[in-house]
Amino acid sequence: MTFNALELAAAPVRAIAPYVPGKPLSELEREYGITDSIKLASNENPLGPGPKARSAMANALQGIGLYPDGNGFELKQALAKKYACSVDHITLGNGSNDVLVMLAEAFLSPAVEAVYSQYCFAIYPIAVQAAGATARVAAAYPNTHAMALGHDLQGMSRLINERTRLIFVANPNNPTGTWVTADALKAFIASVPKDILVVVDEAYIEYVQHNEFPDASQWIDEFDNLVVTRTFSKAYGLAGLRVGYALSHPSVAAVLNRVRQPFNVSSIALAAATAALEDADHLKQSIELNAHGMQQVLGGIQALGLRVYPSQGNFVLIDCARAGALVNEAMLRQGVIVRPVAGYGLPTQLRITIGTEQENARMLSALALAIK
Ligand SMILES: *Cc1c(COP(=O)(O)O)cnc(C)c1O
Repeated sequence: MTFNALELAAAPVRAIAPYVPGKPLSELEREYGITDSIKLASNENPLGPGPKARSAMANALQGIGLYPDGNGFELKQALAKKYACSVDHITLGNGSNDVLVMLAEAFLSPAVEAVYSQYCFAIYPIAVQAAGATARVAAAYPNTHAMALGHDLQGMSRLINERTRLIFVANPNNPTGTWVTADALKAFIASVPKDILVVVDEAYIEYVQHNEFPDASQWIDEFDNLVVTRTFSKAYGLAGLRVGYALSHPSVAAVLNRVRQPFNVSSIALAAATAALEDADHLKQSIELNAHGMQQVLGGIQALGLRVYPSQGNFVLIDCARAGALVNEAMLRQGVIVRPVAGYGLPTQLRITIGTEQENARMLSALALAIK
């Protein structure tokens, strides 16, 4: 008999469809024997970290022989100042992914349920499944809706029952770029029974341009059952370091602290994130670059006659009107990595990160050739 550990794995784990990340540049270049390729697949900031974060990282190397501060004192102080709250509202994570998994670990079990939307961020189904809980998936708005593929909060409400413990709302959502307005989100949270946690994932909030967009971090005191997650991976340019956080009622943070790995955020990540919060110039530059790039990419894709879904993030979802996998393959051959989303149930779509002006131009010409 051949050994296969999958048969030994816990039942919920056996049912998990593994997360498929964007292809790394090194892998593409190895597989295709090309150089000088670009990656617009994982919604990273094309500028990377700012100068303050870079020098904080270099300094933090001195102390790398020691464990990090398990309480993240300085980063929490800086965040508490930013949000005008006390540190006991804050949970730090190894990326916000870590916080999302901690929420599932701490509040879900095989007897209970979680609610999320079709086309939601891929980590929610994985975290819910790993906890052995049942997922209730609300149909997204149809392709013909003004917020096509977006979260239908009323549909999500209808899935709530006495077994529901967690609800996930990404705003804006990845991979669709869709969003819910302030009024709609606030009414939804107010309507959810107090014994159910509502997790609002604001990974892209810094990029948002729309003026009716909610900042759920301002509602933490109003709703005890609200958890807001944020990250340094996107607008702050620290994706490789892995650091994110949750804002919540202190009792939620205290529960998460029970399942949190004691040293879940590295000393370099703590130092860089603390410094990044002080680098308003770099953040502004990153947001402006994205706003310009978004216009360039929207215009370029429309000129190719393809549908592009409106987005408030640093990426767009496009409909290739043919198998996205084929268009992706043709772009890979030209050294441009974008993100197929068939795994999300979007077989003709591709998700494309906004890059620098030069990267966007190169992506647009590769896409033009790919759909010829
Ligand atoms: C990128 C992303 C995250 C953040 O991931 P990190 O673990 O913080 O790098 C969280 N939620 C959504 C919707 C994302 O797209």
